[in-house]
Amino acid sequence: MADALKEKILRQLIADKGREVKEATPKDIYYALASIVNEEVKQQWFRTRKYYKDEKLKEVYYLSMEFLIGRLLESNLLNYGMLDEAKTALEQMGFNPQEVFAEEHDAGLGNGGLGRLAACFLDSLASLNYPGHGFGIRYRYGLFEQRIIHGNQVELPDYWLTDPYPWESRTEEEAVVIQFHGDVHMYKRNDGTLEFEYKNTDKVMAVPYDIPVVGYENGTVNTLRLWSAESIFSNNSDRLEGNKQFYRDLAHEHSIEQISGFLYPDDSSYEGKELRLKQQYFLVSASIQNILKHFKTNNRMSLSKLAEKVVIQINDTHPSLAIPELMRILMDEEGFSWENAWQVTTKVFAYTNHTTLSEALETWPTDMIKSLLPRIFMIIDEINNRFCQGIWFDHEELRDKIPELAIIAYERVHMARLAIVGSFSVNGVAKIHTEILKKKEMKDFYTLFPDKFNNKTNGITHRRWLMQANPKLAELITDVIGPQWIKRPKQLISLLKHSSDSALLEKFNQVKHENKRELANYIKQHIGITVDERSIFDVQIKRLHEYKRQLLNVFHIIYLYNELKENPNQDMTPRTFIFGAKAAPSYHLAKEVIKLINTVASIVNYDPSVKDRLKVIFMENYNVSIAEKIIPAADISEQISTASKEASGTGNMKMMMNGALTLGTMDGANIEINDLVGDRNMFIFGLSADEVLEYYQHGGYHARDLYNTDDRIKRILDQLNQGEFGVHNIEFKDIYYNILYHNDPYFVLKDFEPYLETHELAERAYRDRMTWLNMSVTNIAYSGKFSSDQTIQEYATEIWKLKRK
Ligand SMILES: *Cc1c(COP(=O)(O)O)cnc(C)c1O
Repeated sequence: MADALKEKILRQLIADKGREVKEATPKDIYYALASIVNEEVKQQWFRTRKYYKDEKLKEVYYLSMEFLIGRLLESNLLNYGMLDEAKTALEQMGFNPQEVFAEEHDAGLGNGGLGRLAACFLDSLASLNYPGHGFGIRYRYGLFEQRIIHGNQVELPDYWLTDPYPWESRTEEEAVVIQFHGDVHMYKRNDGTLEFEYKNTDKVMAVPYDIPVVGYENGTVNTLRLWSAESIFSNNSDRLEGNKQFYRDLAHEHSIEQISGFLYPDDSSYEGKELRLKQQYFLVSASIQNILKHFKTNNRMSLSKLAEKVVIQINDTHPSLAIPELMRILMDEEGFSWENAWQVTTKVFAYTNHTTLSEALETWPTDMIKSLLPRIFMIIDEINNRFCQGIWFDHEELRDKIPELAIIAYERVHMARLAIVGSFSVNGVAKIHTEILKKKEMKDFYTLFPDKFNNKTNGITHRRWLMQANPKLAELITDVIGPQWIKRPKQLISLLKHSSDSALLEKFNQVKHENKRELANYIKQHIGITVDERSIFDVQIKRLHEYKRQLLNVFHIIYLYNELKENPNQDMTPRTFIFGAKAAPSYHLAKEVIKLINTVASIVNYDPSVKDRLKVIFMENYNVSIAEKIIPAADISEQISTASKEASGTGNMKMMMNGALTLGTMDGANIEINDLVGDRNMFIFGLSADEVLEYYQHGGYHARDLYNTDDRIKRILDQLNQGEFGVHNIEFKDIYYNILYHNDPYFVLKDFEPYLETHELAERAYRDRMTWLNMSVTNIAYSGKFSSDQTIQEYATEIWKLKRK
């Protein structure tokens, strides 16, 4: 097998580069292998499309402004069933497979959890033989590349397309035109109905680039279609006629290309407004036009039956303009009445809510939508009028609440409200999150539409996050329980039978140690710090946000450091604290926390009195590929958000699946991990969501009291303000003020003591190796529940009503 593949690589190298193996670089090999995979995948891609068409299957379209897919060569090889063969071939040719895979630039077309979820879902859709495709934007720049310079985050543009991207193919024949601005003209038809015509619009071409989504050893290949914005006049030679016109066109072209220029590097609140709105409409208009055209060519059915063949999931509110866009096309281009168009539309859309953070709930100024999308605004306005009238007449008890329910209120358009009204399904992403939506955040909508609300707890693909990222663990699991878990991840539960077998646990220990050694080597190479692979690897990797409370973690580290300084000979299990986090460029406090982590690292890592018992590592540029390196080596998974704030989390699931023990609050999916493994197999601490919400109702608690009464806390805060961490500067004064003068809005001080105590429990547990390993294997055993295969199965049967291929 490997020999045949080697032959192919040789031939491909000569064809592409005119080179032999001994002259080839890892990059040459990467491209050769990618071509070979593409060639194979193309056949299956064609057959899958043909099958969906011939069988007239219902298809789901997942609309998302973000797809954080990471690298594809290794995962495509894995899913295609040739990873082992490829690794052997590469090794025999004298190449390190990981080095070859690392030639691929991460496609970082997402901020964090939301975009990664979209990527995991595509993998599961294809792997379960479901007809389901992604629609997104082909940003020329993904999420910024993070460098740490003198402890500070510096953002560099992520130009991920410098080298040709081998997985995409431009499909010009399917380009569509998107219209912005202009005037709307209304005419009365003979039958009294209205006709709308747009004039003087700015037209932009949306050109699709298609990426195959390869299912796991099943012959299914679905599509991720990413739209690129181009000028309609790109190929127009007229522009050469006059210089002035030429430059005007150039400027125009530039402004058009900006639409697919940058991913907005802010996953919580949205600045740089109008361009972002343009991006959203660009995505949805292109996608809806495409979906309708596809429906018409595949089915000889009236568009009134669209919902029999099409369902569209909108990932957060960012693509919710798809709702008025479908209304527009049905009415203005297909001659539907309002009532008929609304009937169809509200059977097609389903909406996923990802957050209850109020600063992250999208609204747009009405004037902005009115001028950029005049016809769309008219439609939203009409949806709103009919919705509000409905409340007025049918729900007298909610009349007072109309300003809080209206889609347009106080000169703003509320996208979540639009999404709820226009969809047949509204789902939260973990049990507690859905409950908070129903009982609090969207309570009145729940009264209006109780049947729309449902929960779909997030998941992760075990193919990338276990089989690919941690091949040693995957192999050991298969040795122990056989390979059935690969197609049915819930079968990981069979590991429980073996979780007390000490010889076996020793093998799990061995694997974890090898993974830790590999990460330690990587850290040594890239950061130059030596970490003890026998130390506890305590990991917090996620976007930097106040509610995720990286600050609580740092306070604990400072506390341990203070203890060691005071009592240098105390008995302490060595610990390595590993962070990875990007902060939104305009998020000042988040950037201060990054600076603080790095400042603490620079002191602690080099202080001889610590005797290497404490190391702090900040991994630059956290992304999917870095996550794949860290997660297999994690012992402790820090999931310490202020309860009620983390909708689900998926990092928690990835680390559980790799045998790390969760140390966290009762928040998001941590609660569901706890439902499965129990308090015995994880470390829970801190305020509950109910307690947090209760405090918020009564204006919080008294943070200053804790500062005045707890010496440990006082010492840490003073160290920030004036002591060793702040001596040279006043960097951390805003953290200090935020806690003491803004009353610690995320309860860092309030949860500090229970957090310390829980860490002490974890440290003690770690010393009892067999108990720890038993807990670790128990976590792996239950983690199959969090495979995105399970999640997608629930979406497919309960929301989408899909049939498998
Ligand atoms: C999984 C993942 C996330 C989400 O992590 P949370 O801990 O759930 O916030 C963010 N970024 C990357 C690169 C990921 O792989």
